[in-house]
Amino acid sequence: MRRQYDYLIVGSGLFGATFAHLAAKEDKKCLVIDKRTHLGGNIYCEFNHGINVHKYGAHIFHTSNRLVWEFVTSLVEFNRYTNCPVANYKGELYNLPFNMNTFNRMWGVKTPAEAKAVIDSQRKEVMERLAGAEPANLEQQALMLVGSDIYYKLIKEYTEKQWGRPCDELPAFIIRRLPLRFVYDNNYFNDCYQGIPIGGYNRLIDALLDGIECKTDTDFFADRLYWESVADKIVFTGKIDEFYGYRFGRLQYRTVRFEEELVDTPNYQGNAVVNYTSHREPFTRVIEHKHFESFGDAVYDNPVTVISREYSTEWVDGLEPYYPINDAVNSECYSKYKRLADAETSVIFGGRLAEYRYYDMAPIIEKVLNLFQK
Ligand code: FAD
Ligand code: UDP
Repeated sequence: MRRQYDYLIVGSGLFGATFAHLAAKEDKKCLVIDKRTHLGGNIYCEFNHGINVHKYGAHIFHTSNRLVWEFVTSLVEFNRYTNCPVANYKGELYNLPFNMNTFNRMWGVKTPAEAKAVIDSQRKEVMERLAGAEPANLEQQALMLVGSDIYYKLIKEYTEKQWGRPCDELPAFIIRRLPLRFVYDNNYFNDCYQGIPIGGYNRLIDALLDGIECKTDTDFFADRLYWESVADKIVFTGKIDEFYGYRFGRLQYRTVRFEEELVDTPNYQGNAVVNYTSHREPFTRVIEHKHFESFGDAVYDNPVTVISREYSTEWVDGLEPYYPINDAVNSECYSKYKRLADAETSVIFGGRLAEYRYYDMAPIIEKVLNLFQK
């Protein structure tokens, strides 16, 4: 018997919305449901005093994949925002990612050779200790990459606040995401393309879901049997452990609490992102949202500003699950769910919750584009 829809898409985040968009282009009938009161998942923005506030954390789109960039820019126009965060260590300000501006401020060095010489002298000890072996944890990896001054001022305490664990108990790969450059370049990303949709991310979601039937405030699990009956296939972007009734246990996450404040000044911190890298402040970052979309003197067109302080904490049920914890216990637990998922014929699992994997936005889109190419 033919069902009402070709696809029921559970979750209207970037994975679900992109999937629905591409399926509709192939004349498939889709229904998108989301348990939140709005569409867009974690890229959703709320308009507050003329400013698009990134409700689930600051989102900067960046990619080197031309097809992904062409896809998103065919839907919405992007601005020229380039992420150049500043680190505040007990009142001292440093440019991120680690580059010649950082080294100049830290040691007064002016040339790449001088900077390399300082870093080499500071990483000697850990190099000798490792004697050619791979760094076993984040602390060793960071000391190897940038030496002790940068590790102690800009990495150690920030990372411990963010992950809630000592650096020598964290995997080395986390810190390898951060660029290290011996040029004067404060661009946080190495990618060719970067920006924010003009008018905010909701425009991207609206363009992706244009003409597609969507229901918000609708939890798949509240009436699972009904939802399973409406479509030939389900695209599930929620939590995979929940889909399987937590039968192998619960996967763990880190979460972030956002403390939002409307400040009666046009320009609070002069930059979109300021990282607080010491334990002195309990928050990791302060985001000033207007800087994502207004540049130069345009910042002063709006007399107020909205900031969010980010507090990273352990996740418990009821909070938003943000960052998967890819340690051995959780990876083993996920692999059991994955085996069940791989055997499903009428359910496609995708996105950061269903795949229990940290994904940036561009790789999510790339993944869905690839699914449709196949
Ligand atoms: P989500 O956006 O989480 O969407 C899943 C949707 O499914 C949600 O709307 C949820 O409500 C819904 N759902 C779940 N369960 C159910 C259910 N049972 N019934 C109905 N609906 C359900 N990426 C970048 O490229 N750049 C950045 O700067 C960046 N910053 C980030 C900052 C933070 C704090 C976080 C957490 C992520 C960041 N990302 C960034 C990553 C980006 O958010 C993800 O790549 C993207 O949102 C993933 O989309 P998704 O569809 O997989 O998941
Ligand atoms: N990091 C740090 N100091 C900073 C910014 C980042 O030590 O000022 C470390 C931290 O361990 C973090 C990792 O670098 O988890 C990756 O940073 P990124 O900004 O990519 O992480 P995100 O916040 O996007 O997860």
